[in-house]
Formats: sequence, C-alpha cells, structure tokens
Amino acid sequence: MRVPRAFAADRRSPRLARVEIGDRTELFTETVGAPPPVYGERWADSGGRSFRAFEPGRSKLSAAIVREWAGPVPVPGETWLYLGAASGTTASHVADLVGPAGRVYAVERSPRPFARLLALADRWPNLYPILADARAPREFAYLAPPVDGVYADIAQPDQVAIVLANAALFLARAGAAVVMALKTASMGRDRDPEGHLAVAERELARGVALARSVKLDPFHRGHFVVGGRAEAALFGERPPVALRATRAPRPAPRRP
Ligand code: SAM
Repeated sequence: MRVPRAFAADRRSPRLARVEIGDRTELFTETVGAPPPVYGERWADSGGRSFRAFEPGRSKLSAAIVREWAGPVPVPGETWLYLGAASGTTASHVADLVGPAGRVYAVERSPRPFARLLALADRWPNLYPILADARAPREFAYLAPPVDGVYADIAQPDQVAIVLANAALFLARAGAAVVMALKTASMGRDRDPEGHLAVAERELARGVALARSVKLDPFHRGHFVVGGRAEAALFGERPPVALRATRAPRPAPRRP
C-alpha cells in the first residue's frame, strides 16, 4: 500500500481529506468500515486514522467535490437517505462522511447489487440498506427516519421528480440538503446536456435553493451534480416532521 504524504482536512466536511500530489489533488474519506476495500480503492493510515481513497472516476460525489462543488456535503452526525445505492461504492463514502454517529439509509431496487450492499452493511455499521423502488417512497417511509440530506444517483428519465418526492417526504426541515447526480443521457435526445441541466434546475428550484451545478466530464460524461438546500415550498401542505413521526423509526433489516 502506498502511503500518501500529508492529509489535510477539507473545509467541506471534517472526515473528508485532501492530499496534494504534485499538481493533483486526491480525496480520501476516514473509514467507518473494516477492510477489505469496497471497490479496489487504496487505504492508508495517517495520524492514527484510517482513510480510503474517494475516487472521482468511480463516484460522482467525489468528482463533484474535485470540480469544486459548493453545495451540501455530508458531515458527521447527519442522517442521509441515498437513492440508487447500487452495491455501495459511493454510499460507503457517504457513510464515512457522516461518521459513526450518523446514518445512511441506502435504497436500491435491483436485487443483485442490493445483495452486495447488504453484505457491505455487515462491515459498515452505519449503513442501512433498503430494497425498494425510490418511485414509491411511501412504501418504505416506515424504514427510514426524517433525514438531514437526500443524495440520489438513479439515472432515470424522471429522476428530478423522484428526488423531489423523496425530499418532500423524508427531509426533516427547510435548510436540509438535496444533492443529485443528473444523468442527462437518461433524459431523452431532444436537448443537449446543458439543455437538460437547465430543465432539471428549473424543476428543482421550485423547492430547493440551488448551489451552482457542476459538470462531471471527463470523469462521468454527460453528468452533472445538482442540488442545494430545501426551501419551505418543497414541503407544500405536509405537516411538520415532529407531528408525522409518531413512532420510533425502524432500522432496515440487518443480516443475523
Ligand atoms: N450511486 C451508485 C454509486 O455511485 O456507487 C451508482 C448508482 S447506478 C448509476 C444507479 C442505480 O440506481 C442502479 O443500481 C439502479 O438499480 C438504481 N435505481 C434506478 N432506478 C431506481 C429506483 N427507481 N429505485 C431504486 N433504485 C433505482
């Protein structure tokens, strides 16, 4: 294992570290989980802490941070809902960022990656997999509590509508975070990527105060990361979360 030279905390999140190597910046997250690596990423120890490389070519959230994303990034102690977790590449880093006092409820509808996500949760104690369709958030609402942030990477034509529906249902308050990886190739051929981005931003802006979107090329072609902070308008007529949460949230099922 190559040990990088000097880890410096990133201003956006205390469990996110940067390492400057020549003119290149590498990102790492302080791991919550146990080895082995999740997707072949490098692990390294520094100052008694254990870090994992957060690869921009493998994770759109990492690519966004490399591209100077100024919107929300998960911080320690937060709870996030993750839509489209697949086998957990990025979800494991989000779990690292929220740290041992935080939680990530990771929704995936496809059974094959979900099986790997479930196995990963054995090693990531703050990761709670949910096998469900993000299009039907009410069907899994009893499995996740009100959250501080929604992250989505579902690559669907109606991805913005799905994100808004989940954000309106699960976010605990105005000011909570909405971050989505926007795959423009899933949105049809009638516009170029920037045209699709403009449509998505307009739709999201109905309930979210948007940060400046970032383009992820060349790491992820035709993708942007879009999002910001929820505004009161997102919640419409929904009662406040304190009234809605009449029972303690149940954690997702874990393997024995
Ligand atoms: N976020 C992952 C990462 O960075 O590690 C990669 C996600 S992959 C691009 C998109 C995933 O979203 C797929 O695993 C797919 O099965 C899942 N997905 C698509 N539509 C979904 C839906 N309606 N509900 C839940 N998962 C969905």
